[in-house]
Amino acid sequence: MAFRGKPLHTQTEPLYVPAMQEIPSARATARIAPFRNESVTVLPGSAEAGLVLLCDHASNALPAEYGTLGLSAAELERHIAYDIGAAAVTEHLSRALGVPAVLSHWSRLLIDLNRGLDDPTLIMRFSDGAIVDGNRHLDGAEREERIRRYYTPYHAMVTDVLDRCVAAGAPPAILAVHSFTDIWKGVPRPWHVGVLFDSDDRLARPLIAALRAEGDLVVGENQPYRGPLEGDTLWQHGLERGLRHVLIELRQDLVATVGDQRAWGERLVRLVTGLAPAFGLRLAENDTRKRSRA
Ligand SMILES: [Zn+2]
Repeated sequence: MAFRGKPLHTQTEPLYVPAMQEIPSARATARIAPFRNESVTVLPGSAEAGLVLLCDHASNALPAEYGTLGLSAAELERHIAYDIGAAAVTEHLSRALGVPAVLSHWSRLLIDLNRGLDDPTLIMRFSDGAIVDGNRHLDGAEREERIRRYYTPYHAMVTDVLDRCVAAGAPPAILAVHSFTDIWKGVPRPWHVGVLFDSDDRLARPLIAALRAEGDLVVGENQPYRGPLEGDTLWQHGLERGLRHVLIELRQDLVATVGDQRAWGERLVRLVTGLAPAFGLRLAENDTRKRSRA
């Protein structure tokens, strides 16, 4: 069975994908318009709210010409192909907070958007016990083609959205939403949620404190992964530009169902709203309340 560009994961609601629409370029607008092209979806939101959401590993879909990269349907449903639940939580946050979000269309197995171009794990040949047959004999030309078609357009769109927020007078904070597998190499992971950061902890510290104050969460600090990763998405768009940023990792078994995705979405909306002063956000409160009920 070929996966023809349709995400396999279950969504709370369909991805908010309006009709194809060009973003007005060159001119700053107070609103980021919805947009979709071959590699990326932009969910609309205020350019002045001071927050942009990113979801690098939103989908387990593969372009039709890649088939399944030699993997079974069951393997493509695993964490190796995408971050289970992350897209739905990102969509919930975007809608409820009225802030723009950039989501990838394709599996990280095609090319991992959250890696620098010189990272040896940019295109994985093996992942957590699975051999990615379609990547095993990758040559330089194919690598360049994936960068050109799927990697560069995603990062160009992230840059563009951030640029337009800056132009609107609101240099945005960046919140990247990921999820991690609950068992790694046979060992259960204890954290419910992780907060990853590099040398800029302006958002990470208050977010960690807020998550710990919830009282029912084991919160990883630069766990389950080390935050610093040269060339990754937040390194490129946050650290290098001096924009405040943080990455949140949700344990995938806690966001595997529609109900759990909604619950985590609502929890994060509440926490981010409470952190608005620390994050420097200018959320429209009426909008937030209205959209939260929608
Ligand atoms: Zn991820």
